[in-house]
Amino acid sequence: MSLERTLSILKPDAVAKNVIGEIYSRFEKAGLKVIAARMAWLSQSEAEGFYAVHRERPFFKDLVSFMTSGPVMIQVLEGENAVLTHRDLMGATDPKKAAPGTIRADFAESIDANAVHGSDGAETAAVEIAYFFPSSQIHSR
Ligand code: UDP
Repeated sequence: MSLERTLSILKPDAVAKNVIGEIYSRFEKAGLKVIAARMAWLSQSEAEGFYAVHRERPFFKDLVSFMTSGPVMIQVLEGENAVLTHRDLMGATDPKKAAPGTIRADFAESIDANAVHGSDGAETAAVEIAYFFPSSQIHSR
């Protein structure tokens, strides 16, 4: 067990559904602490930069378009095994395949509009956290 951080984004569909609090409650109940948070409406270049690793994928254009379609809620979560804990809470990428009780099973409509983003590893998390938050905006106690 180790204290870890992960980058989490509630995507435009989740923010539009007004379930920020409900999802934050799941984070807290799972032992994840919100140590940074801000709402943002991503520009095209911010979304493209964030998802640069997917640049060559067929869904890239639609993904960027979706992620810039409305405000998102971005947070850094800290806790034991935060990356995996958060991904377990998210559920599978395709909500149809997501386990019952996961965020995507409960709130997502489709693989394109799937409610939440979570870093997929500790190294990715460090890069993604730095993409959105300077260290002065992260408050771990
Ligand atoms: N995505 C998509 N179509 C696909 C696969 C992925 O629109 O066929 C989007 C989806 O929003 C997903 C994101 O691209 O969350 C990143 O894909 P990844 O495979 O990294 O899934 P995740 O880590 O978000 O579960």
